[in-house]
Amino acid sequence: MILTVTMNPSVDISYPIPHFKLDDVNRVEAASKTAGGKGLNVTRVIKQLGEGVLATGVLGGMIGEYIVQELTKNEIENNFLKINQESRNCIAILHDGKQTEILEAGPTLTNEDGSAFLAKYETLLSSVSLVTISGSLPKGLPSTFYRQMVEMGRDKGIPVIVDTSGESLRQVLLHNVKPFAIKPNITELTQLLGREVEQSISSLSQALEDDMFQGIEWIVVSMGGAGAFVKHGSDFYRVTIPPIDVVNPVGSGDATVAGLAVALKHKQPALVVLKTAMTTGMLNTMEAATGHINTANFSQFFELVQVEKI
Ligand code: ADP
Repeated sequence: MILTVTMNPSVDISYPIPHFKLDDVNRVEAASKTAGGKGLNVTRVIKQLGEGVLATGVLGGMIGEYIVQELTKNEIENNFLKINQESRNCIAILHDGKQTEILEAGPTLTNEDGSAFLAKYETLLSSVSLVTISGSLPKGLPSTFYRQMVEMGRDKGIPVIVDTSGESLRQVLLHNVKPFAIKPNITELTQLLGREVEQSISSLSQALEDDMFQGIEWIVVSMGGAGAFVKHGSDFYRVTIPPIDVVNPVGSGDATVAGLAVALKHKQPALVVLKTAMTTGMLNTMEAATGHINTANFSQFFELVQVEKI
């Protein structure tokens, strides 16, 4: 079983409004509401791949209840810490070929909430064989929180994949106990290193030689339609993907993490790990729903991914 962590989940509301009018009334005919947050996208794709998955994190209030209902409806096992504050809504207005987003910050957690979650996490660790941590930390928790979770995993010999950004990612990387895998994109890499990283083999391999990445088994730098650049131990790989019809790229990084998690859980060889992660990312871009893949297309696209060792 894979444990997915979503510390600040949301209900993602999408309002298609073809001609959005500012400072006026806009009526919506077909609003869609789904359980969101990067970790829940990862969760759904793992489930679609037929793998056992347990979703955890922190939620509360009516919105939290809705998230639990949605997960349960989709037969996704879940065990979240419930707090007495309301989880957040994230609204995307789809208008005039554009997407305007309104993102609530969500609850501010107390130290007690943080400790209560870590106690739950410690218990859940005993029944899983791999952990994914995705997305940002809620307000109130220290930026070292994920780093602590990585260490708790490592203490139990459980590999932890971390997909976050900013200070909490930096804290994870500066620690001597390393995550098993990370999946930054080029923007996140640039932010981490404080210097421009380009989409070239020389720039990327130089970036990943930085001390902060030493000891991480897998570093998958995803590059949208250009595939990925990967460091595995001391090996580098360039992974390329075929051109595809993109319907909605939102959540493809999360789908990539899901593929990575499932392949790593099964201790697949490097070639299969990379092809699986790219295929799930691509399949997500081909669907309208975020964090959703059509598994019927898996083998067809898996065959088209090319992995070149550098
Ligand atoms: P993130 O959302 O984390 O920035 P990416 O945009 O790099 O992640 O996407 C992750 C993966 O999804 C890519 O490595 C690729 O496999 C697939 N993907 C994303 N965008 C496209 C695209 N435009 N065409 C084909 N595949 C894509």
